[in-house]
Amino acid sequence: MANKEDINCPIYRNGFMVPVLTNCHHRFCGKCILVWLTQTNIAEASSLTCPNCRASVTHLGPVGDVVGENS
Ligand SMILES: [Zn+2]
Ligand SMILES: [Zn+2]
Repeated sequence: MANKEDINCPIYRNGFMVPVLTNCHHRFCGKCILVWLTQTNIAEASSLTCPNCRASVTHLGPVGDVVGENS
């Protein structure tokens, strides 16, 4: 209950939905990352980047797939 900042989507901070984890260990709501990747895809054609750290996103998975080490 104390980790309200555990998941913070920089794109859409209200109404956090299904959380997803990128290969660069950033968490976003599935809806927002999908919108972001769609927009990025339109602009970059084939290069998907993390909205948080700009790393190449090659994998998206459910949060919980990787156990957090910094908690
Ligand atoms: Zn979001
Ligand atoms: Zn990232």
